[in-house]
Amino acid sequence: MKHGKVWLVGAGPGDPELLTLKAARVLGEADIVIHDDLVHPGTLRYARPGARIVAVGKRGGCRSTRQAFIERLLVAEALAGNMVVRLKGGDPFVFGRGGEEREALRAAGIPVDVVDGITAGIAAPSAIGVPLTHRAACHGAIFVTAHVASNGDDSGPDWAALAAAARSGLTLIIYMGVTMLHGVVEGLVCGGLDPDTPAAIVERATLPGQRAVITVLERLATERQRHGLTSPSIIVIGKVVGRARLAAQRNEVQLAPAPKRAIIGNSR
Ligand code: SAH
Repeated sequence: MKHGKVWLVGAGPGDPELLTLKAARVLGEADIVIHDDLVHPGTLRYARPGARIVAVGKRGGCRSTRQAFIERLLVAEALAGNMVVRLKGGDPFVFGRGGEEREALRAAGIPVDVVDGITAGIAAPSAIGVPLTHRAACHGAIFVTAHVASNGDDSGPDWAALAAAARSGLTLIIYMGVTMLHGVVEGLVCGGLDPDTPAAIVERATLPGQRAVITVLERLATERQRHGLTSPSIIVIGKVVGRARLAAQRNEVQLAPAPKRAIIGNSR
C-alpha cells in the first residue's frame, strides 16, 4: 500500500517569486494541494499538472471552512495514500495554525514535514524600505497578533508590556490588527508608548496593488480609515519606520502608480 504524507508548506507573503525552491519542488510532487486564500494563484502554477487543487479559505467575513474540517481532510487524504501539500500564506508556523495541523496529523500517525516560508512580518517592512533591525535605530523585533481567540481563553496581548518593549527600542510587528486599530493604539499609548512613535500599515505586501501608510502611532487609525486599508495588513511600529520616509525620498518606495503604491499619510 502506498503511504501518504503531508507537507506543511509556506507560500511566502504573496509574490510567487518569494516561494522557496523546496516549496516549488514539493508542490510539483503533490497529488493534492490544499491552500488558504491568502496564497497567490501564481504560486499554484508550480503544482503538478493533474494534481487536485482545493481552496479552504477562511478569511474574516467570508464563509469559513472550519479548522476541524481542514484537519480531517488532511488526515483522510494522507490515509488514502496521497502526497498532500497544505499550502499556507507566509510561514506555516507563524500565526498559520500549522502547529495545530501538525499535531492533528501526528496524532493520526501521519508523517509531516514543514517547509518554511517568508512570513508577512518580515516581508512587509522591507517592502516599504524599513529594515527590521538597524544598528542605529533598533536592536530587535517582536511579532505579535492583535487577534483574540474566539473561545474567550485569550484576552489578547499585554499592550503595556509591548509598549515597554517598544520604548526599549524593539520594533513591533503586528499581525491581524488592522481592523482593531483603535484598541491597539489605545493599548500602546496607555501603556506609555509615545504617540509620536513612527508607525506604518502595509497592505497586501509584495502583491500587486500593495499600499502603505506611513505616519505616527496616534494617527494610525485615522489614516487607515482615510485610505480604506484593510486585511491583509501588517502594522509596524518603531523608530525604524522613520527609514521608510528616507526610502520614499530616494524613490525606493514608489509613490505612484501601481503596482507598488505607497501612500505617505500626513504625519501630524
Ligand atoms: N502565516 C502567515 C500569517 C497568517 S495570519 C505569515 O507567516 O505571514 C494572517 C495575517 O498575516 C493577516 O491578517 C496579515 O496581518 C498578515 N499578512 C499575510 N499576508 C500579508 C501580506 N501580503 N501583506 C500584509 N499582511 C499580510
